[in-house]
Amino acid sequence: MKTNLKQLTKEELLLFVENLGQKPYRSRQIINWIYKKHATSINEMCDLSRDFRDELNEIAFISNLNLLQRRVSKDGTRKFLFELEDGETIESVLIPNIRGRNKFTLCISSQVGCALGCRFCMTGLLGLKRNLRAHEIIDQIIIVNRLINLNSIIPAALANKGTNGNFEISNIVFMGMGEPLNNFNEVGRALRNITELMGFSRRKITVSTAGIIPGIRKLADTGPAANIAVSLNAANDETRNRIMPINKKYNLTKLIKACKEFPLPPNRRITFEYVLLGGINDSGKDALLLVELIRGIKSKINLIPYNPVHSSTGFKKPPESRVLEFQKVLRKAGLIVIIRKSKGADISAACGQLRAGYK
Ligand code: SAH
Ligand code: SF4
Repeated sequence: MKTNLKQLTKEELLLFVENLGQKPYRSRQIINWIYKKHATSINEMCDLSRDFRDELNEIAFISNLNLLQRRVSKDGTRKFLFELEDGETIESVLIPNIRGRNKFTLCISSQVGCALGCRFCMTGLLGLKRNLRAHEIIDQIIIVNRLINLNSIIPAALANKGTNGNFEISNIVFMGMGEPLNNFNEVGRALRNITELMGFSRRKITVSTAGIIPGIRKLADTGPAANIAVSLNAANDETRNRIMPINKKYNLTKLIKACKEFPLPPNRRITFEYVLLGGINDSGKDALLLVELIRGIKSKINLIPYNPVHSSTGFKKPPESRVLEFQKVLRKAGLIVIIRKSKGADISAACGQLRAGYK
């Protein structure tokens, strides 16, 4: 079977070229072609000799995702639907940063579907199809990077004068489809390549989890960790059990303990995500329970008003006044709170929606 060069880590690639009798700098050239110049084939690597390229083509290849659909929202959010080799589809969402309009945050997927079945989530309704391989995770970044610099997808209004078409993905968040800590090995391999080969600082990467406790511990143990976001979505077990079945396995007491034990580097905070579901978890009492629950944890809170994904979920978006009231209670207790406006609602940007709508 041919080796997919994007699946290899820095050390593995070095070993790979050395086993072919090549000098170590050949691996740096290949890395440069794949991760900086975004080459789509071995043939493009014109500073490798023709013979070496022929030899590589015999035993290796570079994978690529197939872009099926692209949508641009009025708020500048862009959504990409990619097809994988086996015909499955995944989504990535590109969100303009509030400051620095030529910079973007890319929200990537880690699985096709998700096994955790959170009741409000479109990806959860799909169930788990399969884990993504590291190269499929990395490819989302490489391809979107290539696309944003092919000016075609940047509306003229956004292409500030003076940026010279130089658009940049500054942050990566694992908040697309899937539960990254249920695909720990491949996500870990992707994280290594994103930092070591693409040059992203770990401070610029956030892994979001519904609370897979062994995964949180493992992430803490594997060195200078990426930022972590935990989807709490409820402040008591009864409500959380109703909306997130995973809570029956890892309840709030255990989850908060794991958060407290997470070794945070200086000046960093855990992000707690809280999807506000009208009439379910959005009362003043819920806000006070949340304050109590996370007391003593260096954190910030992202409040996300529910994005209606499917009528079958039966949930509704809370009125704006409720959202503001909820935020007020948290702020009064001294917490840092951001309301994450539902980005790209007009293009089905909530995770899992674009895939679900594609036939
Ligand atoms: N599995 C991980 C990461 C992907 S989900 C996790 O659950 O954290 C990313 C975020 O989207 C989670 O915080 C989740 O609670 C939120 N989310 C899912 N469906 C949503 C919806 N319909 N409206 C608003 N937020 C939603
Ligand atoms: Fe999976 Fe996250 Fe969706 Fe829950 S919210 S079903 S963990 S993707």
